[in-house]
Amino acid sequence: MVTSRRRRTTFKMAAKTTNLLMKLRSLMKNHSYVSEPLHAYIIPTGDAHQSEYVAPCDCRREFITGFTGSAGTAIVTEKAAALWTDGRYYLQAEKQMDENWKLMKDGLPDTPSQGDWLIKVLPEGGRVGVDPFLLSTETWKPLSKQLRLAGHSLVPVGQNLVDLVWIDRPPPPNNNLIVLSDKYTGKSWQNKVKAVRDKMKEKKAEYLIVTALDEIAWLFNLRGSDIEYNPVFFSYAVVTMTSVNLFIDEVKLDKQVMNHLQLNGSRGTTGDDITITVHPYGDIRKFVESFQDEGNGKTWISTKSSFTLADLIPKEKRVTLPCPISLMKAVKNRVEIDGMKQAHIKDAVTLCEYFSWLEKMVPKGNVTEVSAANKLEAIKRGQEDFVSLSFSTISSVGSNGAVIHYKPTEETDRTLSTEEIYLCDSGAQYKDGTTDVTRTMHFGTPSGFEKEAFTRVAKGHINLCSAIFPCGVKGHMLDTLARTALWDVGLDYMHGTGHGVGAFLNVHEGPCGISPRVSLADVSLQEGMILSDEPGYYEDGQFGVRIENLMLVVKAKTEHNFKNKGFLTFEPITLVPLQTKMLAPSLLTEKEINWLNEYHDKCRDMIGPVLLEQGKKEAYDWLMRETEPLA
Ligand code: ZN
Ligand code: ZN
Repeated sequence: MVTSRRRRTTFKMAAKTTNLLMKLRSLMKNHSYVSEPLHAYIIPTGDAHQSEYVAPCDCRREFITGFTGSAGTAIVTEKAAALWTDGRYYLQAEKQMDENWKLMKDGLPDTPSQGDWLIKVLPEGGRVGVDPFLLSTETWKPLSKQLRLAGHSLVPVGQNLVDLVWIDRPPPPNNNLIVLSDKYTGKSWQNKVKAVRDKMKEKKAEYLIVTALDEIAWLFNLRGSDIEYNPVFFSYAVVTMTSVNLFIDEVKLDKQVMNHLQLNGSRGTTGDDITITVHPYGDIRKFVESFQDEGNGKTWISTKSSFTLADLIPKEKRVTLPCPISLMKAVKNRVEIDGMKQAHIKDAVTLCEYFSWLEKMVPKGNVTEVSAANKLEAIKRGQEDFVSLSFSTISSVGSNGAVIHYKPTEETDRTLSTEEIYLCDSGAQYKDGTTDVTRTMHFGTPSGFEKEAFTRVAKGHINLCSAIFPCGVKGHMLDTLARTALWDVGLDYMHGTGHGVGAFLNVHEGPCGISPRVSLADVSLQEGMILSDEPGYYEDGQFGVRIENLMLVVKAKTEHNFKNKGFLTFEPITLVPLQTKMLAPSLLTEKEINWLNEYHDKCRDMIGPVLLEQGKKEAYDWLMRETEPLA
């Protein structure tokens, strides 16, 4: 049954991209927006704000390739079509793309970079087109240089060519905004603007262009829902020493938002004099152009912003540093930390209820990956200040668990059983915080190898979470800690270990991270940052294991203080038991057992009373059983 169904799907998809690629290639040759024919066209995943997750109208790469994962770049040439994506998505991309597409496995030593590949396949003097709003400066520059040195050119194409072949492309979303009071943010938008201006003074910048949607949401203490799971809204901001400019569709500005932003002539009680000017969303380019002629003031724009805006600013007037908001947002204040902890208590309550329900229902044989994920969402909806999920729940059984960013669909749906491992990675947006947690469990008897894999992942998880390190250490320096227990026996995983998480914002938040890739984790970890700790192990075709907690960077108490550096460590804020049945106790050290026992004590103390308060007795009993101390 499954095989024949899959074959039909593949056939249907093949027909679909053949036709699209034909149309796209014909536009590359002779469309009026292309002055001379293009030999290749790049289709990045991001939108004009370089968002990791995009609105339906911006899913161009997904539309053209059929691959639905959150990361990847497609390149179409006259004869070939290739997609680059990372280890999380190899299996998924292979399954979803038809034979027109070649998968380029990013991160493997034999995989050519996009530039190297282009140089190999382009004819002499090749022209590579791309929508310049969709490429960041940091992606544009090295690629453009590499192509130029090989006699080719990277060409900005004002009209997006995929949009022209996408007949039923959805309109851009225009959803309502949520105003967040200081009760949730701990700092008014006026004070945030002042802090931003202080940073601008330090760098002698007259203008700051903000293009990342989560940075704009954070700055103005507003949230939206233009992108599923990410509480952001389409906008740009330009902060100057004398003005604050918000580029947004006015439809979004209801009375509450107008009052919050003091757009109706009202003033806050603090007597501050910061005024916001609202511009149409599409005017950003014109506006940036307009102030280039005014005096010698410098303009600060991050290299993560789109090339098209940075390119408007003469090089000598450009400050190219990461946007100051990115770091300000990553270091949570007291109110945000308390909110995140509160959100994690509520979220742990929902997971205890969910897992106790699964334990009861799975042996009956009628819970599937999809029905389980729906049940979990229904449970989460019952918690105070719940807004939405923070990403699509990964609810996966057996071999599906080895597909790292698996999203259960009707076609792939499998039944949970007492025979196979179940991996559940879920998260929610609450008004007070964002959660992201993975637990792996077995409702029957795990095999010896499954237990070993789980235990080694748990050891890595604990090793990272209990690390003590001096201030100044960057995330990539800690990544190894989560892998050594796997490396010891020749195992590993093909994804980063941790990402920053926003406070009621994007579940993946820069600039901090814990990854072997230096570029993803190039800031020092600081007290108040919140990151995930999520090592895993994936046995293709068999099972997947991942253990994920969010943790807060806190001061460490150490006996010494070398050169007065100050030392840091992590405090887990996710409070959901790890399934001790999956552990091979002989592989654990005393220190690891103590960590687990203390962690489980904390789960009991913090979550137990709330479960009873909410009348969830079965979940409470489950929590008590699952947190029995290890001997
Ligand atoms: Zn997760
Ligand atoms: Zn995560």
